[in-house]
Amino acid sequence: MGFKEGVDNFKYQGLRKKLIRELAEKGIQDQDVLAAMDSIPRHAFMDKAFDTYAAYNDIAFPIGDGQTISHPYTVARQTELLQVKKRDVVLEIGTGSGYQTCVLVAMGAKVFSIERQKGLYDKTKFFLHDIDCSARLFHGDGYLGLPLFAPFDKIIVTAGAPHIPEPLLSQLKVGGILVIPVGPSDKQVMIVIKRLTEKHYEQSEHGLFSFVPLLENKVVKKTL
Ligand code: SAH
Repeated sequence: MGFKEGVDNFKYQGLRKKLIRELAEKGIQDQDVLAAMDSIPRHAFMDKAFDTYAAYNDIAFPIGDGQTISHPYTVARQTELLQVKKRDVVLEIGTGSGYQTCVLVAMGAKVFSIERQKGLYDKTKFFLHDIDCSARLFHGDGYLGLPLFAPFDKIIVTAGAPHIPEPLLSQLKVGGILVIPVGPSDKQVMIVIKRLTEKHYEQSEHGLFSFVPLLENKVVKKTL
């Protein structure tokens, strides 16, 4: 990955170090996650790129089309729960700004990411190309996963799902991990699912979070 000259500087790096310390104090232990987040200028993923308060405090922020870039703590915690290893093949549902995508790429994962909103997909595809972030982006419905590229070592859902989509379970490798916030409207439980065998899955819960909803594409049928 490479950001244009002047995008990052000592001031942003200093603010980022402070944010990383805050994330560690809030309980994030995976040093690889903290190092990846330390290496990425979060402000570059926001429309108001120079709103340093929003970029380097633990807050969510609008990224257009009614969507938000997740809290840094949420990104850190989801990534930690995913137990990312170098060369893991990871599917992300909800590309949004591409920030989480780039954190995964910085950790050495091979990332596929799906975004439902065409405007955001176009904008982020252009931006990630510009910064040489090697993730492969797709415009589509994340409920269906990405059967052509399955199975995945890890799957991360970055929007609140009313239920666990079955295709995501079946597209997980045996030994793989799915991290998904599940629940109604704005409060979801972070659920981690491990695929133990072809047929057996183990589920654990990791606290409450607040995400924008994972929207299901409704097929509008014509009445004749
Ligand atoms: N990971 C993002 C978070 C974006 S918010 C970031 O770091 O910025 C969640 C995103 O999920 C939104 O962009 C929203 O448009 C997208 N989304 C919602 N429902 C979806 C679906 N069914 N399939 C794919 N993306 C979806």
